[in-house]
Amino acid sequence: MPFIETLDNLALKKSELVHRFEGLIARKSDEELEAMAQTSCRFTLRNFGRTMRLFAPLYLSNECINNCRYCGFSRDNPILRVTLDVAEVVAEARHLAYQGFRQILLVAGEHPKFVSRHYIAECVQAIQPDFSSISIEVGPMETQDYLPIVDAGAEGLVVYQETYNRAVYAEMHTAGPKRDFHFRLDCAERGYRAGFRRLGIGVLFGLSPWQEEALALAAHLEYLLKHCWQAQISVSLPRLRPAAGGFRPLFSITDRELAQLICALRIIFPQVGIVLSTRERAAFRDSLVLLGVTMMSAGSHTEPGGYTRQGGERLHRTVRGRIVGPDFQDGEDRLATGQFEISDERSPAEIAAVLRQRGFDPVWKDWDQALCAV
Ligand code: SF4
Repeated sequence: MPFIETLDNLALKKSELVHRFEGLIARKSDEELEAMAQTSCRFTLRNFGRTMRLFAPLYLSNECINNCRYCGFSRDNPILRVTLDVAEVVAEARHLAYQGFRQILLVAGEHPKFVSRHYIAECVQAIQPDFSSISIEVGPMETQDYLPIVDAGAEGLVVYQETYNRAVYAEMHTAGPKRDFHFRLDCAERGYRAGFRRLGIGVLFGLSPWQEEALALAAHLEYLLKHCWQAQISVSLPRLRPAAGGFRPLFSITDRELAQLICALRIIFPQVGIVLSTRERAAFRDSLVLLGVTMMSAGSHTEPGGYTRQGGERLHRTVRGRIVGPDFQDGEDRLATGQFEISDERSPAEIAAVLRQRGFDPVWKDWDQALCAV
């Protein structure tokens, strides 16, 4: 049975696991929340030890043919755009490797002309010697399109549904192939069939009531754990950040509610990875370290070329998808526009130091391809 059937019936029929999860995300007293936090902390230590995987996103391109109302890269936003060439991607990747990273996430907008499967495979192949774990977060593809990327050495696929509410999804995605809700929903399974051994899913909080999204996310997790059981599954919980286009969140999820959600996920899915990005404030990220988060990005840039100022000479602006000259405004930085504003701006070394102070091991590498031969 495809996941869409579970999702469509979720209001009427919940599994035992999702039912328990629903109880955990209901309003709690301070004492109840404290008890949840202690259980969550215990489960995290039992399953992951005092470790935190660190990774960095590397943006390949901010070209996009979709209009997503909440995203700075939306086609109709007149922003500075570029697609890095492979040599520029290697320069960015080497900078991250020099900082200690061995786990990297290649991110790009959806644009088949600039960001083809061959281009992504070339990028993966070129940076592979420096990274033990390469994941991609790009427009959803068919299984056969993922094959050259997996063959090149990528092992992780990240795709957020953004919202599991179909009506809101239709309202938010106003143009481009991303309007296809089903194609996105089945993406993790197609990636699994292509050979990705890590799968990441998530929702973008701020588009719809958080409890409804969390419930659908939990159902999706349960489904993937059954159907893609050989993969390591992780979940991300991004909250909307300011971006080009000026979209404002329609719904909120407070810090306390996000912490409760992390605890609920950890208690119901003890072995699932939980990712927290630099969208969140430094102090809040630090406070969540013990609760259930197992993977953090650090020192992130969301603009292509942002780490080492690559691609500057090919920058262009697009107006409703049409390329025009860059016509730099006074004082405008000659760098591609970022996807959203970062909140935790500490360097990877600073974040690693804070983790160590709290008795955690920052993990730069937890896998080596050589293990495949054992
Ligand atoms: S969210 Fe992704 S698909 Fe949508 S505009 Fe941004 S980069 Fe493009």
